[in-house]
Amino acid sequence: MADTVDTEALHAWIREFARLIAEHKDLLTELDSAIGDADHGINLHRGMSAVVEVLEKESPGRPAELLKRTGMTLVSTVGGASGPLYGTAFLRMSAIAGDAETLDGADIAKILRAALDGVVARGKAQAGDKTMYDALAPAVESIEESIADGQPLGEALDNAVRAAEQGRAATVAMVARKGRASYLGERSAGHQDPGATSVTLLVAAAARALA
Ligand code: ADP
Ligand code: MG
Repeated sequence: MADTVDTEALHAWIREFARLIAEHKDLLTELDSAIGDADHGINLHRGMSAVVEVLEKESPGRPAELLKRTGMTLVSTVGGASGPLYGTAFLRMSAIAGDAETLDGADIAKILRAALDGVVARGKAQAGDKTMYDALAPAVESIEESIADGQPLGEALDNAVRAAEQGRAATVAMVARKGRASYLGERSAGHQDPGATSVTLLVAAAARALA
């Protein structure tokens, strides 16, 4: 059977991401206290709690609607750099989902590519800048390769999680060139990037909920 992701599965993805953010809130804030302003966990926890509430109140019909409401809620509830970045990522995913009722593996690869493009359009990060890009980009490349190879979505997402984890680990050595951490210059090296850490949770949540 072909992989089919419906609105309910996407809703499960969002709920799982919210749960993982709640579980890792203190870690994310700790990471941000080393090279930022100690609010990344608090920011995302506030945003994702609001998203879960909004989606629960009125369950969205199509994938695009769910992704759009998620993005809009994040933009309006999360301050700092990460709110607009995550918000744009979900709004771009929504645009790609169009009026489809279900998404297959290739569609999931496409919406994740659109999310990455949105992050770049918004924040202008490149590889090696020590941002969420450095975990999300390898994950997107990995899922595109797996799907092109004909692997089922579950395996493709499991591979993408490993790629994100490697990207996340690589941010430790990087010197930040974007966002607040860049103010520290060389002193930002030796710390894992908070955004690369949270976006790895987003991919991990997808692997659990979408396959
Ligand atoms: P703020 O830095 O405004 O306090 P957060 O703490 O919520 O916002 O988020 C910080 C994270 O945002 C960083 O760890 C980094 O991954 C990500 N980030 C910051 N600026 C950019 C950018 N221009 N492009 C991509 N990601 C960015
Ligand atoms: Mg911060």
